[in-house]
Amino acid sequence: MMKFCNLFSGSDGNAIFVGHNETKILIDAGVSCKKVVHALESIQESIEQIDGIIITHEHIDHIKGIDVINRKYKTPIYANRSTWKKIHEKFDVSRLTTCHVFKTKEPFKIGDLEIHSFPIPHDAAEPVGFNVLSPQKKISILTDVGHMNVELIHQLKDSDLIYLESNHEEEMVKVSSYPWSLKQRILGEKGHLSNLNAGKNHSSNDSIGNRKIYCGSFKQGE
Ligand SMILES: [Zn+2]
Repeated sequence: MMKFCNLFSGSDGNAIFVGHNETKILIDAGVSCKKVVHALESIQESIEQIDGIIITHEHIDHIKGIDVINRKYKTPIYANRSTWKKIHEKFDVSRLTTCHVFKTKEPFKIGDLEIHSFPIPHDAAEPVGFNVLSPQKKISILTDVGHMNVELIHQLKDSDLIYLESNHEEEMVKVSSYPWSLKQRILGEKGHLSNLNAGKNHSSNDSIGNRKIYCGSFKQGE
């Protein structure tokens, strides 16, 4: 069974936990190490058991804690090359251990989980979203997405769970607890995500319409 938990979201910092059997990862760690440790404890998880942190992009509200976490707990960090370059400007990367470079769009594995990265529109060096796949399930994670497009809709196809955060769609938070059908109708009235409906029409089946969609905090992020 996959376990998903949105630990932090918004401009104060972002971190998401995904676990499957013995494999446990974080997507971003944009708050202090201490906060991450406490948040993990609150969901009965331990920082020592985190197998890797995969980074969506270099904005500080997504990477703030990685420096200390990596040095203190030797937690491997995964980011693409352009993102690492930018991280280097904020932290002394030479002090970090177990840093991994992935190529956007090239799948890689962390334990039981397969990670697929794909480009997202955001004002960072090489921002990505992730599909996190166990043998049975697919979770899609999009943070700081400027707008949806057909390519992104394609990446969400057949997801069992979609985590979507947009700092441009403040209205979405108001409807985040509504059923998807209602949410879809409401979002359809909004310009940014009108492509969501367009993309859905391109899908061969009702690939995202029946899935769980989680919307994160929509406070203005970096
Ligand atoms: Zn950002």
